[in-house]
Amino acid sequence: MRIPIDSQSFVFRFRTYVMLIEQPPFIYRMFFPGGYWRIPVDGEKVVYLTFDDGPVPEITTWVLDVLDKYKIKATFFCVGDNVRKHPEIYKDILDRGHKVGNHTYNHLQGVRSWSGRYVENTKKASEYINSDLFRPPHGHMRIPQFLRLRKHYKIILWDVVTRDYSKYMTPHSVLKNVQKYTRNGSVIVFHDSLKAERNMKEALPKAIEWLLEQGYSFRTIPSLRK
Ligand SMILES: [Zn+2]
Repeated sequence: MRIPIDSQSFVFRFRTYVMLIEQPPFIYRMFFPGGYWRIPVDGEKVVYLTFDDGPVPEITTWVLDVLDKYKIKATFFCVGDNVRKHPEIYKDILDRGHKVGNHTYNHLQGVRSWSGRYVENTKKASEYINSDLFRPPHGHMRIPQFLRLRKHYKIILWDVVTRDYSKYMTPHSVLKNVQKYTRNGSVIVFHDSLKAERNMKEALPKAIEWLLEQGYSFRTIPSLRK
């Protein structure tokens, strides 16, 4: 006798799990002692806009034009190989008064990379990116990587990740993330990447306008050297 089986019941549907929710919990922050997630300033409402994964033609320049329009300065965590390919855009970021940080040379995932290779890759990026700020791609790294890089860099994580890169997000939900999670001193992550283009281009100007309405001023991430 054949037993009818609903094959669907045997199918495990894997979802892409978000490794970090929009606002990383305290317990996660404890893994990176001395890492920067939020930089509040007493008596002021400040936020720190950051852009990861560029420089990329069109997209980074578009972001720079938006920031100019609102007279805002931000911090760009650049991928070394992208700077090698687009040095003129990297120069433009600096010429327009923004700050830059190191985001490794090949956008390596810390937990999937041997620590020596990870540190070497970051060092290679430093030949192109002059900064003592470092942000680990994907927001994770092994403890030895963290401890070694911490000697030379200020490790910048984040307080609000907009998830603009996600195909499951809409420009509206990206904006909502900013509105829901931003507080004094929040380090906010957007991406100047092709993946984020659809959401970021629509959400960024709206997010800036909302933050201005809330009375926030915008700062760049202070470096070790100031
Ligand atoms: Zn990244």
